Amino acid sequence: MILVKNLFHSYTDNEMYAVEDVNFSIEKGEIFGFLGPSGAGKSTTQNILTGLLDIQKGQASIDGEDVRKKSQRLFNIMGVSFEQPNVYRKLTAIENLEFYANLYSVPTEDPKKLLKMVGLEDAMHKKAGAFSKGMLQRLVFCRSMLNNPKVWFLDEPTSGLDPTTASRIKDIINEKRHGGATIFLTTHNMHIADELCDRVAFINEGKIAAMDAPRDLKLKHGQKLIRVEYLEKNELIQTSLSMRKDEDKALLKRLIENGQIDTMHSQEASLEQIFIKLTGRGLD
Ligand code: ADP
Repeated sequence: MILVKNLFHSYTDNEMYAVEDVNFSIEKGEIFGFLGPSGAGKSTTQNILTGLLDIQKGQASIDGEDVRKKSQRLFNIMGVSFEQPNVYRKLTAIENLEFYANLYSVPTEDPKKLLKMVGLEDAMHKKAGAFSKGMLQRLVFCRSMLNNPKVWFLDEPTSGLDPTTASRIKDIINEKRHGGATIFLTTHNMHIADELCDRVAFINEGKIAAMDAPRDLKLKHGQKLIRVEYLEKNELIQTSLSMRKDEDKALLKRLIENGQIDTMHSQEASLEQIFIKLTGRGLD
């Protein structure tokens, strides 16, 4: 559904690339996460795919169509929710959605239904200028759903939202995926990536450092650790044992045989730990 080949983008005249030789393809119905710290090149890639930035070098197509064409057909099947709220502040929430709905030449969703889905029904007649940051974010999210997009671009969809609202947004994203939408999600939040994405690409300094299903990344790059609390000479010891080290395995075996273990939990590497391992830096 989305195909990107050898994509480069530079904001300068020298050979400094914000996006450097990026390649990926996203299947229909997949949630693909673009995970990386601030300045990694996520927005640049998203802006190229959504037609806001011109392609300098490389190829990008959506649903078989070159994004360079900026066709009306692509506009009609795409939804874009940016972190920066691009709504009219002097219009009410519902007026904003009605205005944007009129720009599409395909049937659109009922704005009231969308506002209700994100918990903004009581604020529908309020001017967007009086909205809090979180409310604006939800309004932009609704805007991006107006045309019931087949290809949905979401930039940090839950950042700054309270846990209940964030959970509601995640449910909506999952429902859309099950309805067949293809979702490109950019984030620096590894929890979101882990929870929602079928596959993630780690992006750092414009380059993709790894790309796989979150679970496969963890299995491939994470250490299998067992967190144990055990009694040794009347002292409670807490430690993590690696299932890749013979001495740790032998210790675990001895502890089990002697019945010394108080508690034991398997410990998975987080996506952030793997990101650090592969890129040498964190996600913040
Ligand atoms: P992210 O979305 O991952 O935070 P961006 O794609 O916004 O990253 O930025 C990638 C790099 O390009 C950064 O070094 C950033 O400073 C630079 N950059 C982004 N937008 C511009 C711009 N309009 N002009 C110049 N440099 C930019």
